Amino acid sequence: MFTLKSLPFNIDALVHYMSEQTLSLHHGKHHQAYNDNLNKLIENTEFISLSLEEIIIKTYNKSEYEKIFNNAAQTYNHNIFWQSLSPNSEDREMSSRLLEKINLSFGSLDNFYIAFKEASTSQFGSGWIWLVQGEKELEIIKTSNANNPLPLNLKPIIVLDVWEHSYYLDYQNRRADFIDAYLKEMVNWKFADSNLD
Ligand code: MN
Repeated sequence: MFTLKSLPFNIDALVHYMSEQTLSLHHGKHHQAYNDNLNKLIENTEFISLSLEEIIIKTYNKSEYEKIFNNAAQTYNHNIFWQSLSPNSEDREMSSRLLEKINLSFGSLDNFYIAFKEASTSQFGSGWIWLVQGEKELEIIKTSNANNPLPLNLKPIIVLDVWEHSYYLDYQNRRADFIDAYLKEMVNWKFADSNLD
């Protein structure tokens, strides 16, 4: 049985960039539903004793397990997404270790912002934009629907949810403004640093 994790901040903590209504629906309804559906789907199956990560790897790209994969991955992806956000400006201070890795992988912090924004605006339909760590360097990848970096053997550092339920109440069709708010006003670089190898 998986239990939905609480948001790591108050529901009104990001109110200038992500409304209480968005968070209440996104966490309390969407994320909760993925979590609850997963619990129902794995009842009396071999998956009941596995971690979320193990379930995702075992069910990836297997048509008979598509529903389990989708709900497990969406539960996992949202766990990473909430941790990627913070209302505290101290959490937006980038460690020198992270900045060095970003400079090495993207040339500069500005180049990273441009690449992340380009990936986020160009994702067609529902999906996720990830900063991930491969064998050495950091990369930005886009995944559609519930897909995530785990089956690709890449480690998530931070993620942005670009499903419409993530921003439509607050930004309507202005996805680019939501991405700017994420990168400048909400992202948690302390969490990102804690995920580096
Ligand atoms: Mn979502």
